[in-house]
Amino acid sequence: MELYSTNNTASRVSFKDAVFNSMPQDKGLYMPVTIPRLDDKFINHLDEYTLPEIAFHVAQNLLGDSIPADDLKAIIYDAINFYAPIVPLEKDVYVLELFHGPSLAFKDFGARFMSRVMSYFLEEGEKQLDVLVATSGDTGGAVALGFLGVPNTRVTILYPKGKVSDIQELQLTTNGQNIRALEINGTFDDCQALVKQAFTDKDLNEKFRLTSANSINIARLIPQTFYYFNAYAQLLKQGKNKVVFSVPSGNFGNIGAGLLAWKMGLPIEQFIAATNANDTVPAFLKSGVYQPKPSVATLSNAMDVGNPSNWVRIADMFKDDMNKLKGMITGFSYDDTETLAAIKQVDKDYNYVVCPHTAIAWQALKDWKKLHPDSEASGVFLATAHPCKFPDVFPDNIAEKINVPQQVKSLEEKDKQSVILGKEFDEFKHYLLANQ
Ligand SMILES: *Cc1c(COP(=O)(O)O)cnc(C)c1O
Repeated sequence: MELYSTNNTASRVSFKDAVFNSMPQDKGLYMPVTIPRLDDKFINHLDEYTLPEIAFHVAQNLLGDSIPADDLKAIIYDAINFYAPIVPLEKDVYVLELFHGPSLAFKDFGARFMSRVMSYFLEEGEKQLDVLVATSGDTGGAVALGFLGVPNTRVTILYPKGKVSDIQELQLTTNGQNIRALEINGTFDDCQALVKQAFTDKDLNEKFRLTSANSINIARLIPQTFYYFNAYAQLLKQGKNKVVFSVPSGNFGNIGAGLLAWKMGLPIEQFIAATNANDTVPAFLKSGVYQPKPSVATLSNAMDVGNPSNWVRIADMFKDDMNKLKGMITGFSYDDTETLAAIKQVDKDYNYVVCPHTAIAWQALKDWKKLHPDSEASGVFLATAHPCKFPDVFPDNIAEKINVPQQVKSLEEKDKQSVILGKEFDEFKHYLLANQ
């Protein structure tokens, strides 16, 4: 597999370099030079394969000889070791549950695959890889659990003190081994600024082999295509072969992966981009003007993004025909009042509890269906996180219905380990140098 930068389509890097660089020097994003079309025989018989089998086939077609087949298979069977079922809620409405991984959010797919790929490419005797990650909640947990125990790697998580939920904090601070958590007296933006400055600091770069684990890394995007194929496989089993996906979107990595799956031949009729009040993309789809803006805080905070970093990838996929993009994606956005109303409606209609991000995707699917009463497609909305991660959002009568998974209960018995730091770069740098 070769990749180019969206800012220089003539450039070429290997998959390994794209994974370790994360972002090209020219600040574009890496895209595959060729997006292979999977043969119809595979697509039409997807229902005969398991999730890891599908994942392996898709990855092998994309990656080519970047990772030999046996090694790739081992990586995938180790990384994708949890399920992603579609659950029927009413006629032609399914929820795709992506929260059965260790951190209870879909980011486990990307983080687990990326960590294993990075570890694979680290050659024997090479310097330890130091992963720095700033998180507002979900990313840190997925990255920590993705790298936990992975040889020759160490993860340093920076999170804003007092600004993540209790469960998220436990996921960040109870790992030990090669994971350490820094509680920053500041905001998420302060955490991100510290990480960014570390990457440009000469002393730190001499001492450490630093890398980032954020969502623009191509190794996080690729594994997110797997569950779109697998959802379609499950629909085929039920005799359905038409589908629309509704995707709760923030940085637009998830829906970007869906579009990649579509480009690889998965017959998806329509994508619904569902956002909260941070509606840069739905506004663009309506007006044709792409106008990034500062993010505003909402109940669905993992989607509080005013300038979605993966949008350039989507624009790149449609660079020859922007009208086609508008035909393929419909945008909807909802404020917090509508989000809460959707949570209550889903509980009332199906006795099912959705996290605030997922609620937005459900509402968007319902509104799309209203506009397309004759569509024969099955609607699948993506449940991106388990509701137990956002306990403060729900009214009591709904909160008490949430089944807290065993892994969370055992987290509550563990001790929190973190180091509290101010938001000054010197303090952070001193900590890193003093704790090699
Ligand atoms: C990260 C996240 C999103 C947004 O996904 P993008 O790929 O950034 O669009 C949605 N829901 C949850 C729960 C998340 O953690």
